Amino acid sequence: MSMHQCILRFGFRLFICSLIAGCILNACPSTSAEDAVDRLQVPRLQAVQQARAEFAAQRKTIARTDGYQQYRANLHVHSHFSHDSRGQLPDILAAAKRAGTSILMFTEHPAPHYDFFRDGHRGLQDGVLLIPGAEQSGFLVYPTFSLQGITTGSPQELADLVRGRNGQIFVSHLEERMDWKIAGVSGTEIYNTHADFKEEKALVAALKNPFRLFQLSVAIQKYPQECFGAIQNYPADYLRRFDQLCQTAPHTGVSANDAHQNVGFGIRWIADNRGTLEDALGEKLLDIDLSVIPDSEQLRQGRKPGDLIFSLYLDHYEHSLRHVATHLLLKELNEDSVRECLDAGRCFVAFDWLADSQGFQFNLQSNSSTTQPGGRTQLDSDCRLKGRSPLPCRWKIIRNGEPFAESTGPELDLQIQQPGVYRCETWLTVAGSDMTWILTNPIYVDSREK
Ligand SMILES: [Zn+2]
Repeated sequence: MSMHQCILRFGFRLFICSLIAGCILNACPSTSAEDAVDRLQVPRLQAVQQARAEFAAQRKTIARTDGYQQYRANLHVHSHFSHDSRGQLPDILAAAKRAGTSILMFTEHPAPHYDFFRDGHRGLQDGVLLIPGAEQSGFLVYPTFSLQGITTGSPQELADLVRGRNGQIFVSHLEERMDWKIAGVSGTEIYNTHADFKEEKALVAALKNPFRLFQLSVAIQKYPQECFGAIQNYPADYLRRFDQLCQTAPHTGVSANDAHQNVGFGIRWIADNRGTLEDALGEKLLDIDLSVIPDSEQLRQGRKPGDLIFSLYLDHYEHSLRHVATHLLLKELNEDSVRECLDAGRCFVAFDWLADSQGFQFNLQSNSSTTQPGGRTQLDSDCRLKGRSPLPCRWKIIRNGEPFAESTGPELDLQIQQPGVYRCETWLTVAGSDMTWILTNPIYVDSREK
């Protein structure tokens, strides 16, 4: 037996024993305890789960009085069309429904063998609106026509092409293109789950090691949403850039789930006692002897050789879609309304895994009108930023990229007397830590006409 197999057998025994006995392997201290790895310690996960339950019990239902309905949208979602995902639509739809999502905006990696626009997921299915798109040349692209066979040239040319026919295009993975100045884009990502994950160096290293994954497996099974949420950090760099861009022209900020369901592993039964350990894309990592697993008979019950008898994902679609969403204020649920809303910026980003943001409102009320996020208005003698939240929270108002005002409670009421670009953040205290809950799009306030 090679050293590798020996370690695998040991790791596997540990893993399966822990599954069956329900013991918490996180009692094994992590040597590289830092960042998200710290947040994966079981006492911390328990406390976060408790906090989520308390928020759910405390939250109040708020009726919208602005004439809109709030629809939850997940942008930047990959499925089996993308080379790095095996996601099938029925599974993604089921996950979306469990997460409370009404709109799935796919962003497949384009490839010559399919046309993401013509072949992609589209239409209302089981109450969820599907819109096809692509992750292409540094953008999330939602065109209104097929781009197949079109040579797009520079990023600006691609943006002009898509926007020229009323499509939407968002700068994606800002961390790789902070210096981009593309005129006329719909907006930018203001949070990207994958970028957040990449920041977690110790966690990324840990997850490349199947034995560390084994160790985490009990925690992942017991606290799947909290484990996923352990990556969440305030997206300071993204927001700094977003604020700069909004100073030059209105940009719509959206969240990017970058959902792939491709971090994890599975065990496939080959024949007799032979099996393989696979990564989440079905690539074989190792042959394994199923007889070393104490209860492998149970795992094989009702299955046949060739079947996956066990799988575990850190980024299951359900958990990645629930983590964060862009909430759109619409009058009706259809593709045209979604496109109009994204153009208008009438939306906000919420980390709904912490607490459901349904009913949240932030707008500007003046003597004559109410302006929603993304909108533009003129200063008058009584301009007030107003907010209502289903939970008491900390409100932070950012003006022209700088902290402007703070308050706490279920409501916000702040008079403003200066023009500027105003956006709102809300924060919650979660198991002793301050965490970002909601990031709105800005309201653009011009100076009074002379
Ligand atoms: Zn992606």
